[in-house]
Amino acid sequence: MSQQKFNKARFDAALTRQWQYLGLSSAQQMTPHQWWQALSAALAELLATQPPLTPRKGQRHVNYLSMEFLIGRLTGNNLMNLGWYQEVQEALATYQVSLSELLEEEVDPALGNGGLGRLAACYMDSMATVGQAAMGHGLNYQYGLFRQSFDDGQQKEAPDDWQRDRYPWFRHNAAHDVQVGIGGKVEKTENGGWYWQPAFWLKGEAWDLPVVGYRNGVTLPLRLWKATSDHPFDLTLFNDGKFLQSEQSGIEAAKLTKVLYPNDNHQEGKRLRLMQQYFQCACAVGDILRRHHLAGRSVHDLPDYEVIQLNDTHPTIAIPEMLRLLLDEHQLSWDDAWHITSRVFAYTNHTLMPEALERWDERLVRSLLPRHMQIIREINRRLKKLVQRQWPDDEAVWQKLAVVAEGQVRMANLCVVSGFAVNGVAALHSELVVKDLFPEYHQLWPKKFHNVTNGITPRRWLQQCNPRLSALLDETLQVEWANNLEALKALEPFAAKKAFRQKYRKIKQANKQQLTEYIRQVTGIQVNPEALFDVQIKRLHEYKRQHLSLLHILHCYRQLRDDPKNPDFVPRVFLFGAKAAPGYYLAKNIIYAINKVAEVVNNDPKVGDKLKVVFIPDYRITAAELMIPAADLSEQISTAGYEASGTGNMKLALNGALTIGTLDGANVEIAAEVGEENIFIFGHTVDEVKALKAEGYHPKKLRKANKHLDGLLKELEKGKFSDGDKHAFDLLLNSLTKNGDPWLVLADFDAYVEAQQRVEALWKDQEAWTKAAILNTARNGMFSSDRSIRDYQKRIWQAKR
Ligand SMILES: *Cc1c(COP(=O)(O)O)cnc(C)c1O
Repeated sequence: MSQQKFNKARFDAALTRQWQYLGLSSAQQMTPHQWWQALSAALAELLATQPPLTPRKGQRHVNYLSMEFLIGRLTGNNLMNLGWYQEVQEALATYQVSLSELLEEEVDPALGNGGLGRLAACYMDSMATVGQAAMGHGLNYQYGLFRQSFDDGQQKEAPDDWQRDRYPWFRHNAAHDVQVGIGGKVEKTENGGWYWQPAFWLKGEAWDLPVVGYRNGVTLPLRLWKATSDHPFDLTLFNDGKFLQSEQSGIEAAKLTKVLYPNDNHQEGKRLRLMQQYFQCACAVGDILRRHHLAGRSVHDLPDYEVIQLNDTHPTIAIPEMLRLLLDEHQLSWDDAWHITSRVFAYTNHTLMPEALERWDERLVRSLLPRHMQIIREINRRLKKLVQRQWPDDEAVWQKLAVVAEGQVRMANLCVVSGFAVNGVAALHSELVVKDLFPEYHQLWPKKFHNVTNGITPRRWLQQCNPRLSALLDETLQVEWANNLEALKALEPFAAKKAFRQKYRKIKQANKQQLTEYIRQVTGIQVNPEALFDVQIKRLHEYKRQHLSLLHILHCYRQLRDDPKNPDFVPRVFLFGAKAAPGYYLAKNIIYAINKVAEVVNNDPKVGDKLKVVFIPDYRITAAELMIPAADLSEQISTAGYEASGTGNMKLALNGALTIGTLDGANVEIAAEVGEENIFIFGHTVDEVKALKAEGYHPKKLRKANKHLDGLLKELEKGKFSDGDKHAFDLLLNSLTKNGDPWLVLADFDAYVEAQQRVEALWKDQEAWTKAAILNTARNGMFSSDRSIRDYQKRIWQAKR
């Protein structure tokens, strides 16, 4: 396909319909927000007339199932990908309207928590760009991830009503409606089969967002399902915690897609969450089968035409739902239904952490989905036979491999057993998936296991968020790099040129200046744009170790107090962005501690502008787009073995931030790409973490032996940063000592400080630093999500297996 040309006459006509629809007599009468709506709706209308992309020969149509799509603002992104930005800017200028100002009117649809949701959004962008026929299936939440503010340093949450009913990019077509049952009972049919009699019916409405490929004329639908009901029913029968209680009586089906659960890498075993999962899966599977039938194809051929990629285990219920439809509606035998299903599903694993591996109480599953529970039990029964053939009378192995055990359904096991492919999200992670998580499954089905290293879309994460650097790349390379990121390799020789380094540095400086202004606006803090911008932006989690950075801040503050005039002290601005799940009290305590330390440090006259600590509130895509181009140092300091991949690390490195990081997730691959002289690696490796835990790790002893570290912790304990309150940071401090420091923060502290000294040494040689930064931009081409999608195509999605 080729780029769709901008047609000014059609655009003007579509725009005119928008203000006429509002009952106005001219475009000039629109408010800025109405302008954004009108522009977006007009563009959506122009895109809606495009024919759908059909799979190429040998390709299957991909159905990407994800509970989260963290898409960010769409209007500017779509204009850039269409290649219409300039023309629309000029068209609007004739109305005296500034396109860039109008784009600031868009809310940021926060329909995801963090990396997993953002990955789904990057993958949609890349599937459209490489021309992979696909559809995304997710949920149309009324409230996205909560908005965060700070009150005396404590995180406060407010609902994020992003006005989905007036979001101009949505298209709704009632022809795609799906009926979804819930609850009820299972009955035997006359011919010996089973039949599910649900207690209630919901309606699933398909609300489509257009995902625009990069200047190739392709638009893919992201279908977000919204729950409604023709027959309102009382969901209080399934009452589930806060946000149902917070609404008054008259609860109806629409509550199902009201709220995104705010947990990242942690399962909350709530009934409403399982209902959300099933609702999404039933809508998606119903939709996929209907399209297949409309194309006049037999259900037996489904695996030749369709693949369903599960983004983590959240949509696993799609597997028994597919089996149920094939068995009960299509009247297939178990063997036929299984033969089809097990060739359609592929599963992406995102974590090894037990608290994030989904397990559902069998009774809960049965009460909501009795027929599905029956099917899951049948899968388990057949699996048991197979396992017993391979490991006769080995109960321990069976206990590990069972899909149903100890009254729980293990979703990851269900995925591995029922799918044709399993992949991890970075080389190291995929290795650990095989070695630590599923070694026996790997023995049974070695060919099922793959690696697909995550990626990021260079359109949003370089071209759009960093226009200054993009322009420099355009003028220097004179080639299209936005859909061919490996082309950045050609930048390497320029790292040796002084004049180029100067240009590159000026751009970073301009981006830092811009962020400095934003920081002043949202926090009132004035930072020094010449200082080293040390950036840690990601969900707040113990394994990500924001508290390790906090200890380093205390270290720097100490140094300054001991020797305020030291000319070698490298001025820094520590920048954080992170939301903590509302029920994750330790994470919230870490936020509080960082904010309280910030307050003291930022107001200490002896410190001046040598040290500032800023926690940017409400971290989200739009904030990331501002912070990433301005970062000098990228903090990727998770305990080795726990960050499956990370994608923030890729965004920052591509934009010329140097990484300080552990050998974890994709950091390992970033280090291999950029070269060890252009990255700061430190800390226990995966094997060393395991060894330390095996031999017995004693953080209290370690603390006692390390006077310096002990002194820093004491400052927190004595209330120095909490107005004398000695218990303000108890949760944090207890986790570091009494509770055994499970994430080895203290064990990595010295190595971390040493790595930060290497950072400072390089920073003092700005020419050498800039050279390393340029090489980071030049050598991160493999982390384009276009490459990830091509890997999926080659390794997993191929037809005729
Ligand atoms: C990329 C991104 C993430 C993921 O960051 P990690 O450092 O990989 O955890 C989370 N949130 C937002 C808003 C992002 O853009």
